[in-house]
Amino acid sequence: MTITTFNPPVRTLMGPGPSDVHPRILSALARPTIGHLDPSFGRMMDEVKTMLQYAFQTKNELTFPVSAPGSAGMETCFANLLEPGDTVIVCQNGVFGMRMQENVERCGAKAIIVKDDWGKPVDPKKVEEALKANPEASLLAFVHAETSTGALSDAKTLCALARQYDCLSLVDAVTSLGGSELRVDDWGIDAIYSGTQKCLSCVPGLSPVSFSERAQQRIKQRKQKVQSWFLDLNLVMGYWGSDGGRSYHHTAPVNSLYALHESLLMLQEEGLENSWKRHSDLHNALKAGLEAMGLSFIVPEESRLPQLNAVTIPQGVDEALVRKRLLEEYSLEIGAGLGSLAGKVWRIGLMGQSATPSNVMFCLSALESVLSDMGADINSGVALPAAQKHSFS
Ligand SMILES: *Cc1c(COP(=O)(O)O)cnc(C)c1O
Repeated sequence: MTITTFNPPVRTLMGPGPSDVHPRILSALARPTIGHLDPSFGRMMDEVKTMLQYAFQTKNELTFPVSAPGSAGMETCFANLLEPGDTVIVCQNGVFGMRMQENVERCGAKAIIVKDDWGKPVDPKKVEEALKANPEASLLAFVHAETSTGALSDAKTLCALARQYDCLSLVDAVTSLGGSELRVDDWGIDAIYSGTQKCLSCVPGLSPVSFSERAQQRIKQRKQKVQSWFLDLNLVMGYWGSDGGRSYHHTAPVNSLYALHESLLMLQEEGLENSWKRHSDLHNALKAGLEAMGLSFIVPEESRLPQLNAVTIPQGVDEALVRKRLLEEYSLEIGAGLGSLAGKVWRIGLMGQSATPSNVMFCLSALESVLSDMGADINSGVALPAAQKHSFS
């Protein structure tokens, strides 16, 4: 066997992430690698930090991208904020809330679980009951945008509850950052992590995080060292810190950071509010088309994520075959159901650069043609006109 250069197929990515990466971002990635301690690299790092503060809507000094994917951002937050014996309220309404519980328990802390049905947002009433019943809890953790179901929870209300009961708040914003309204300072979020491959449309493998003053105090007052050497913020800050003297901790993913810089620049050029609006406008167009076809959404309208559309599968249809045909015949990727929704829904992503009018029309027509060809019971010829009625401005 001769191994040759790997040339990936060109896809349209409309699943739960990664999303389509803009050529501007790909070309940033291809610029010459320089040293991670090079002074000109340091200037770029400062700009990345400033633009992340804008994306998160925060003035937090401790804002930077962890050199690993979203899951490592999650782990950074838990590993630094928890010590063995701590109690954490963990909200679960999908896959990522379950991973939070795993993290808490691996830190030797106790997780009090607040459960909501998959597809529903986190219920603030249940959270308040749990906070009342567990006064020793020091942290409230929840997922803002549950990518496994497409549900958006009310982060502002949940973080206010955390404050009221003297807990820090920890928010998973992997899928919400750049796609849905998110205001770290105004909402009083203490610790937050995200990912680069969802609504920022950057390459996978980086996890922007941010910590409030209160969270930083908690980390400084730890009795024990953070169990993970790599994720220990006290050490990482020697490299990303604001005191200017960047010292070696690990080799930064230099080229991926060029890509993040470019994607944040594009977000800044578009404007954060405009980006939120684009995701919502295109969701409305996609929704009109899918519903006209006869598919329905599993999340109640008021808590639907625009960037992740979980829709039902028509009766009797082999859902895996549909995804396979979309990929092979149209080079279009949509997502399968996860966990308890496996086999029951498709997850159609409209994240970042994938959220365009042409992608909405392409996805609707490809899905309709495959479903019609398979003899599925759908309404034909109505999806595109229904989507077109929505303005894309
Ligand atoms: C994708 C995702 C993660 C994990 O991010 P990775 O980059 O895959 O590690 C965590 N939380 C949510 C809500 C996600 O959508």
